[in-house]
Amino acid sequence: MKQGKNNQNYDIPETMKAWVLDDPEQLRLTEKPVPEPGPAEILVRVDAVAVCGTDLEILSYGLPAIIEGGSPFNKNYTPGHEYMGTVVKLGRGVDDFQIGDRVTAEVHAGCGRCERCREGMYTSCSNYGMNYGDKDKGHRANGFTTDGAFAEYAVNNVNTLIHVPDEMSDEEATLVVTAGTAMYGLDVMGGLIAGKSIAVTGPGPIGLMGVAMAKSLGAQPVILTGTRNSRLDMGKKLGADQVINVREENPVDKILELTKGKGVHYVLECSGASNALNEAAQMTNRGGRICLAAFPHEPVPVDLANLVRNNIYVYGIRGEGQSATHRAMAFMEQKRFDATIIHTHTFPFEDVPTALKYAKERIEDAIKVVVKIT
Ligand SMILES: [Zn+2]
Ligand SMILES: [Zn+2]
Repeated sequence: MKQGKNNQNYDIPETMKAWVLDDPEQLRLTEKPVPEPGPAEILVRVDAVAVCGTDLEILSYGLPAIIEGGSPFNKNYTPGHEYMGTVVKLGRGVDDFQIGDRVTAEVHAGCGRCERCREGMYTSCSNYGMNYGDKDKGHRANGFTTDGAFAEYAVNNVNTLIHVPDEMSDEEATLVVTAGTAMYGLDVMGGLIAGKSIAVTGPGPIGLMGVAMAKSLGAQPVILTGTRNSRLDMGKKLGADQVINVREENPVDKILELTKGKGVHYVLECSGASNALNEAAQMTNRGGRICLAAFPHEPVPVDLANLVRNNIYVYGIRGEGQSATHRAMAFMEQKRFDATIIHTHTFPFEDVPTALKYAKERIEDAIKVVVKIT
């Protein structure tokens, strides 16, 4: 029994309840040993975990989860990667956090030794998935290459944890990775400079957080495009100056009209639509920048001549690198925007399959579905 800073006691049992992935779409509730934190690791009691679109991908197709160098099916693997909780045990040498601290976790610890990790691009670690047997290079990505948080406890590298302010709810704290991903997209484009214009295409969780983040950084105007008016209304609440329903208006024409024919400086593409890059290039001004945060499942034709002739830069991002989650948390802590707007549903731990179903089928217009464990 350990005493925490809040004089709370944390009895750590030997086993815990955890959901594991058997065949595709087959999650099963089982018992697992509670993991031990190694050097530079912390055992976190999971208090809340949000469902991400990538969880749904993993359940159906396996990738991008990679367990022991291959498919994650039938390996006793636990998904879930957007989580927060309470520090209950510290690994050797950890003094950055105390027992009882509330923390939220970003996904990728990286290996810390490859060229990309050393550059801060740990979401693009060259040793991705190398954490087993004689290929153990210390890489971790929660719920992707190691066990995730649809479980009562999870172990995490100290470099991925962020303190949660007392006044922030558990549910809101699970949204930091989403906001951090949007922040990373803006970083990768060279950083958003106040007064520049941006279009965010696709009002999913990342797109909506992209709107909030861009507005907080001083973008003007912030334009959001999408197909659902309910989502576009949320975008307005999060800071969109203009919203365009692409079923009612041509987004390229409308954006050119709003920018006096010039187009926007930045496009953050979050729709994954097959023609999204071509449209983004048409709504970007000459010399402008596009960041792809979503992608279509099939290869798509791209008008390269338009990109080259107009000196348009195209970036892709994977996840939430360069400590963007820490900066996202700073914005959320300062209440620069209300991330809780995108949290629509909460389910208990026993109902993880229902939570996933709500997210997948967007039942009752679900956006961010959170599983509350304690
Ligand atoms: Zn995610
Ligand atoms: Zn690495």
